[in-house]
Amino acid sequence: MSKRILITGAAGFIGSHLCDRFVNEDFEVVGMDNMITGDLKNIEHLFPKKNFVFYNHDVSKFVHVPDQLDYILHFASPASPIDYLKWPIQTLKVGSLGTHNLLGLARVKNARILVASTSEVYGDPLVHPQPEEYWGNVNPVGPRGVYDEAKRFQESITMAYHTYHGLETRIIRIFNTYGPRMRLNDGRVLPNFFYQALSGKDLTIYGDGSQTRSFCYVTDLVEGIYRLLFSDYAQPVNMGNPDEITISQFADEIIKLTATTQKVIYESLPKDDPKQRQPDITKAKSLLGWEPKVQRAEGLKITYDYFKKIMK
Ligand code: UDP
Repeated sequence: MSKRILITGAAGFIGSHLCDRFVNEDFEVVGMDNMITGDLKNIEHLFPKKNFVFYNHDVSKFVHVPDQLDYILHFASPASPIDYLKWPIQTLKVGSLGTHNLLGLARVKNARILVASTSEVYGDPLVHPQPEEYWGNVNPVGPRGVYDEAKRFQESITMAYHTYHGLETRIIRIFNTYGPRMRLNDGRVLPNFFYQALSGKDLTIYGDGSQTRSFCYVTDLVEGIYRLLFSDYAQPVNMGNPDEITISQFADEIIKLTATTQKVIYESLPKDDPKQRQPDITKAKSLLGWEPKVQRAEGLKITYDYFKKIMK
């Protein structure tokens, strides 16, 4: 009999790619999303499939799923700085109450649960690159606190269910990830730059552009999630692409790729914006034999084609 998996945040960027992967692997997939940042366009191609169902539901309220469940992937949450500033309370609730509900569901179903955590648990890191053992540098009452602390609580309660209830749990710390189905207006640097280049606007660099990020293409991440789910490792695992660049270099790459004649302009740096970020993926490599395969040039090209299509 096929295994049955619940994917929360199913209509979101990463969630919808996970739905694709598990539908293609012949799992029975139950997608769930409350649609505050999700988009049905990301999953409408799955509706005709026999092994896909969708529930419009907010997981911070009691979650009921009939019948067997073997796995749960908890990917519901606003996840860009603009989004969690717009929905701070929902962000706190989905990471805390939502995670609690799904852990309870996992217990009654005897299911294994993997929760999506984030590099934001490291805050503005004082250790570089960031290994899983680093505890982070987070401002709990700053604008990013609602996301960072919800995710830190999520890790904590997930580990408690593992320790006290013997629940099978997995925790992934996701670093900046990109690809088709990112929302054009989610405020992140990549959709922003593409949107600006495609609509004849100057590219906005926040601060002096010397801050760094490391961008992972979405199918690489999905492969890592898949491997972690079927591993037996319950401690947090970083996943991302260690290929680190400054935001200025990133703007240059987008300008070259899109052949825009616009220039860059400088705006003020948002509060608590991390100065540098690069995953240490030693654990993922040694435990799961995983590392990213898609080079930025290739991933950006596919993503650019996607944005061109949706902006027509
Ligand atoms: N950023 C930028 N211009 C933009 C949007 C973002 O320079 O139009 C910067 C932002 O200040 C941060 C980096 O790009 O230093 C990545 O921001 P993003 O919102 O994508 O995600 P973060 O990694 O900060 O969560």
